[in-house]
Amino acid sequence: MFKKIAQKLFGGKASRPSPAGFFLNVRCDRCGEEFHLFVNTATDLIQNFKDDGTVTYSLKKEILGGQCRNLMQVQIEFDPAKKVLSRKIENGEFMED
Ligand SMILES: [Zn+2]
Repeated sequence: MFKKIAQKLFGGKASRPSPAGFFLNVRCDRCGEEFHLFVNTATDLIQNFKDDGTVTYSLKKEILGGQCRNLMQVQIEFDPAKKVLSRKIENGEFMED
């Protein structure tokens, strides 16, 4: 359902990927419910100021399942260019496209 909306918004796949974010696709460990959350990298990321003056970013998200009330916790670390360095999830799993 969300994929359809995204394609409408962005004019179909393989056109331009949004420069301002990406989709976080996760699946509930307990019941298999799937979530497709849009992460806006311009507004959703937490800035981390390092001692050497660089800035890295991180994202923390809590996702509450609608079917089984399972709370999933996602944490993603980004480099100064907002490229994903590492990610982890509790109570769920990442789905690859
Ligand atoms: Zn669930």
